[in-house]
Amino acid sequence: MDPARGLDRIADVAVGTGKIAAVEPSIAPERAARVIPVKGCLVTPGLVDIHVHGFRGVSHAGVELDTYCIGRGVTTAVDAGTSGADSFAGFRRHVIAPASTRVLAFLNISRIGLISPLGELVDRRMIDREAALRACREHANEIVGIKVRCTHFYSGPNDLEAVQAARAVGEATGKPLMVHTGWPHTPFERLLDELRAGDIVTHAFRGAGEGGVIGPDGRVSPAIRRAAKRGVLFDVGHGSGSFSFQAVEAALREDFPPSSISSDIHAASVLGPVFDMVTTMSKLLMLGLPLGSVIERSTALPARSIQRSHLIGSLEPGRPADITVLQLVNGEFEMTDSKRQVRTAASKLVPILALRDGRAALE
Ligand SMILES: [Zn+2]
Repeated sequence: MDPARGLDRIADVAVGTGKIAAVEPSIAPERAARVIPVKGCLVTPGLVDIHVHGFRGVSHAGVELDTYCIGRGVTTAVDAGTSGADSFAGFRRHVIAPASTRVLAFLNISRIGLISPLGELVDRRMIDREAALRACREHANEIVGIKVRCTHFYSGPNDLEAVQAARAVGEATGKPLMVHTGWPHTPFERLLDELRAGDIVTHAFRGAGEGGVIGPDGRVSPAIRRAAKRGVLFDVGHGSGSFSFQAVEAALREDFPPSSISSDIHAASVLGPVFDMVTTMSKLLMLGLPLGSVIERSTALPARSIQRSHLIGSLEPGRPADITVLQLVNGEFEMTDSKRQVRTAASKLVPILALRDGRAALE
């Protein structure tokens, strides 16, 4: 299943020298050095999770990315601002370089990023657009955008100033913003005014009236629709406090699905309720998003949102062979959202195999 190319059929996939060589109804196995049988499974482009937190041991939020990303079917993980300009060289050296997972990052507009739980923007001196610009130029291949958290206990009264600084850096570098929403100091609608086409609001499917797409009246608010119309994207970013089954159902009723599915795995969410990207995808499936849409929102669309759709998010021959194999298993599976609401799903996706550049990291 390759939504980027409109493919949903039974086929063989050939890999050579780290690249996708062919996707054909039948490829003679005698021609291959190795054959991996995956009959009955779902073969998709490598999953792209655009909201994770690495930098374990430096950040209180960080987890071991390979364990929870490529170990669980995600071939590209985008760190969502765990690192700022003051620590990005270390993040690149100690997290990105040794990882089996393809790791990219949103740079935090706060110089210190998430190295302390005390709040990275409470002191407005941490908002430093020159430092962020330098980091973006120095690490142009690793940094895909700028992250800002707009929540009063992380940003004090400085959220609007931080978003404006991030926007200036985004405009200078041609990279999108990822804005974390939830109980901001500045009214959410005012913050939305700052966002342009391609900017991403994460944690968008949180509880009604908490600063996500669903307003206090339980409906998609008009300001959200206006922002979506001009091209602002609304990402899941499940996390420990930011994903509500009711909000997703309300949004789907109004034909307002997430632009992308992401997990927000961090130290306080990875052992539940999030667990991983594939469990998050299974929740969307349970809530009524069709399988093809779930896969598209976990491959092609997040790849496009980080401006990497020429490299990842599709099984087009010639691209890096980032491939995920999943199994759709039927049964009764308990699913929990960030509000600790529990539902029973009739099926779930299970990761079987993940290849990055044609190399297996999980079998
Ligand atoms: Zn996060």
